[in-house]
Amino acid sequence: SSGKQQPTAAAPAHSGAAAVAMRRVGMFGGTFDPIHAAHLRMAEAFVAQCRLDELRLIPAGNPYHRDSGPQASAEQRLAMVQLAIAGRAGWQADDREVRRSRPAYTVETLEELRAELGPACQLWLLIGGDSLHQLPGWQRWQHILQLANIAVAVRPGFDAANLPAVLQPYWRQVPDFSNSAASGTIRALTLPPVPLSATLLRHKLAGGEDCSGLIAPAVMQYITRHRLYRSTAR
Ligand code: ATP
Repeated sequence: SSGKQQPTAAAPAHSGAAAVAMRRVGMFGGTFDPIHAAHLRMAEAFVAQCRLDELRLIPAGNPYHRDSGPQASAEQRLAMVQLAIAGRAGWQADDREVRRSRPAYTVETLEELRAELGPACQLWLLIGGDSLHQLPGWQRWQHILQLANIAVAVRPGFDAANLPAVLQPYWRQVPDFSNSAASGTIRALTLPPVPLSATLLRHKLAGGEDCSGLIAPAVMQYITRHRLYRSTAR
């Protein structure tokens, strides 16, 4: 580690000066194949509960092995994200991973974002509750927490006592919105479970089922026009 950015978890610093409120930016990455109602519900909870000024939705690029990867191209998945969030102030579809020539690690994307936003910005990464237990296995995971805070969309019944011990020091029952918390904390987002996944949607679409209500209308039109997800056959 460069030592330039210290995690605030270990030593929260309190500046006495009444500072201008720190800008808060959230990152929500996913395959988004396609983006659906549960993603939008998560994103809304993320914006509200982390009080974000800005949200970046970042579709993953195309993986090396297409046969096991997404059905829609990276460009199509990005276009659907753009359509789904059109008109929402502060929400942006971020094409950095789509433009990349190789798959990106989360830490790399966060490094780029942090470099662009500067140190005086509270950065939040949204992850699914199931990912939390895998976090200690992610590429340079401690550096992720030097760059950002993490908001976890947990399932009902989630108990922080069951967190891996290495994550315990970062955990906050009550999020810290002070200017000292640019990075280094993990908190839960509370949102009702939505029994929906892109996999389920692709099956419904391939079977010709009506998916209105589960997909934004503009995205549904795009899927129809581009004849996406027409068959489950790979
Ligand atoms: P797939 O079924 O293709 O894996 P997905 O919708 O589960 O798709 P992504 O498109 O990668 O997955 O979604 C981005 C993030 O949103 C992931 O962290 C995923 O866990 C989360 N997510 C998706 N659907 C839900 C849901 N219904 N409830 C909670 N989290 C969800």
